[in-house]
Parts: sequence; C-alpha cells; structure tokens
Amino acid sequence: VWSAVPQGPPDPILGVTEAFKADPNPRKINLGVGAYRDENGKPYILPSVSTAEASFVGEADKEYLPITGLASFTSAAAKLAYGSDSAPLSQGAVAVTQSISGTGALRIGGAFLARFYPTSKVIYLPTPSWGNHTPIFRDSGLEVKQYRYFDKSTVGLDWAGMLADIRAMPQGSIVLLHACAHNPTGVDPTQEQWKELSNIVKEGKLFPFFDMAYQGFASGDIARDAFAPRHFVSEGHQIALCQSFAKNMGLYGERVGLFSLVTSDKEEKARVESQLKILIRPLYSNPPVHGARIAGSILNDPALYKQWEGEVKGMANRIISMRTTLYDLLTSTHKTPGDWAHIKSQIGMFSFTGLTQPQTEALASKRSVYMTKDGRISMAGLNGGNVEYFAESVDGAVKG
Ligand code: PMP
Repeated sequence: VWSAVPQGPPDPILGVTEAFKADPNPRKINLGVGAYRDENGKPYILPSVSTAEASFVGEADKEYLPITGLASFTSAAAKLAYGSDSAPLSQGAVAVTQSISGTGALRIGGAFLARFYPTSKVIYLPTPSWGNHTPIFRDSGLEVKQYRYFDKSTVGLDWAGMLADIRAMPQGSIVLLHACAHNPTGVDPTQEQWKELSNIVKEGKLFPFFDMAYQGFASGDIARDAFAPRHFVSEGHQIALCQSFAKNMGLYGERVGLFSLVTSDKEEKARVESQLKILIRPLYSNPPVHGARIAGSILNDPALYKQWEGEVKGMANRIISMRTTLYDLLTSTHKTPGDWAHIKSQIGMFSFTGLTQPQTEALASKRSVYMTKDGRISMAGLNGGNVEYFAESVDGAVKG
C-alpha cells in the first residue's frame, strides 16, 4: 500500500543529537538542542516546579480537562503575558485556550486564522525563522511568505530590509513576530524599533501574530520580555499570541502552552472561544492536565511565583554570563579573527555565530563540537567545564 511513500529527510536539529550520541569523544559538546542545561551540562528541574508538583501528586485526579484547558492556569498565563493592567484582559475581551505547548498554540492559531481571518491567507515569517514555523502554518492552511530580518554581514538586524518588506505587504496580511529572543538568530528589535513596527503594522492594516516562546528566559525579566506584545495591545492592535512554558519553566515534555486572541469585547470573545473549541475538539479533544497544574500552581501562588521569577533570572543570567565568557575567550585569549560582539549582544538561548557550514562541519568532524549547519549554537549547552574547549575549537576552525 505504501510503496509510493517517499523517504523524508531527517529533522535537521534532531540529526545533530544523533551524530553527537554516536561520537565516542569524551570532550564532545552538543550545542544543537534548544533545551536549557545547568552548569554541569545536565537538564534542570526548577525547584519551584518540584514544589508545585509535590503539592498535588497522588492527590489530584486524572479526569479530562475542558476543551480549552485548566481555567486557573489559562487565566494566570494570560495575565503573565498581557500584564495585570491589560485593558482587554480586564474587559474580558481576550479569548484563551490552553495548548500543546508553543507548537500547539501556533497550530491552533494558524488553523483559526485560515478558517476565520477575513482579509488574507498569507502569513509572512522573518528570514530566517524557527524551522518549524513554515510546516506549522502551511499544514494549518495558510500560505507562507518571508520578510527580511537578519543581516549576515553585520550578524544583526536588517532593519531597513525588514521595514521595506513589511511596508510592501498587501493590506491585511498576517505577519509573524518573535516577541523576544528570536530563534535562531538571537537578534531582537529594540523597544524603539518595536514602537515603529507597531505604527507600520497599523498603517498596513496587518495582523500581528506573536510567538512568545521565551518570556523571562531572554532577559530574566518577565515584563521586559513581553514588551512587544504588550505595546502592540496598548496601541489598540488585536493580536494573536502563542505562549510556551517549555523554556521558562523547564516544562519541555509536559507540553504546556497558551493561545490567545484579543477581541473587541466580551460578546466577540465568547463567539471566538466557541469556535476555538470547535477547532480543537477534533484535533486532540482536550489538553494534558499535569503540566498545566504545575504551571498554574506556580503562577497562582505569590510565594512560589516569586521563587520561580528568581529561577528564571538564574537561567537567563547563566546564559548571559556564558556569552561574556565566550566573547572574552575568543577576543582576548585567542584573538580569533572577526568581530564577535554579536555573541554578547544577541538575546536568549541561541546565538548565530556567523560560522560557515564548512566550519561547522569541521568542528563536528575534528573537534566533536556539534551545532546546526547554519552556525546556530545553544548558549545553554555551554558551561564552565566546556566553554574553553569550545572557544579553542572555534578559534581553530576560523583560523583553518
Ligand atoms: N516558537 C519558537 C520560536 C521556538 O523556538 C519554539 C521552541 N523551540 C517554539 C515556538 C515551540 O516550542 P514548544 O512547542 O516546545 O513550546
């Protein structure tokens, strides 16, 4: 029956992990995977997560959640994103649903817009963007196009190109924006640039669709990382927003997320939510309960919330300190040719190093240092025990 099914290509990021696992070199480093690692290179279970989990394990039932999820979690998660002073939130005008982490939120959003957004079926993504964005939106029924974002020559934002492309989008198009810690580049617009973007999006009557997978994880500050979507909402934009608790709570495998849409009023919100339910029911019926309970417990308990904020800061700061260490090693210790300032200025888990594909291949084959072919490294994979070896290896690859 399946003789005509072609062999598909392996996932580019998971392929890096396969190669890493097969490598016997004890000094090997895997910087491909986008998951936080502690100072010893180990997965990190946040103490606030353990406390929250212990508070209900063995006691909470395993009944189905409603289609749109655990209400105590979804309302607290929306508040985290929009801010407790958000006007549409306090007016009851934000439609929300729990989602299968950030990926599921994007997919629900894509499907909802494909079904109901009246003006366009085209979504514009930054070049580059997270590799899964294109298949998610294509499979949701939208047409995917691109806008310029990253400037290879400066390893920074292509601000002029981005503005020109957004200005040229047909009225009513959908534009995807990474709220903070752009993946894969680590390059974000400044707050001033976000303000200008908000104006341009308004002029073009574009629909702003935010993907916020790293709130708190980028700068260590929950509000600061949510600046862009909050600013757009305060300017009257009716945004779509996808949230993930994979990174900021370390709940990767629990699949905890939220999808929300700002609507005009309570009545419109009710209609939108009714259609979100109709869309979700045949997809997966209702979302998983365990992770939502953990996240909900943290967000709703002031003491636990405070503890969690400190832990998010701790993760963000460890990554930021690795950026400084790596920068100093490359520029002062090794005098590696090139300008490495972007290592320090880029934001979030990833850094686009500017290393070329031949250089990344040489790093893998000669030094057992693994990253994606585009030269993206996960800063979270670096630690005090391996950063020197990494810098020395990069230096070798650049000097050839
Ligand atoms: N959006 C972006 C930009 C991401 O980097 C990620 C995770 N790599 C996601 C969404 C979704 O991740 P998850 O489904 O694990 O929440």
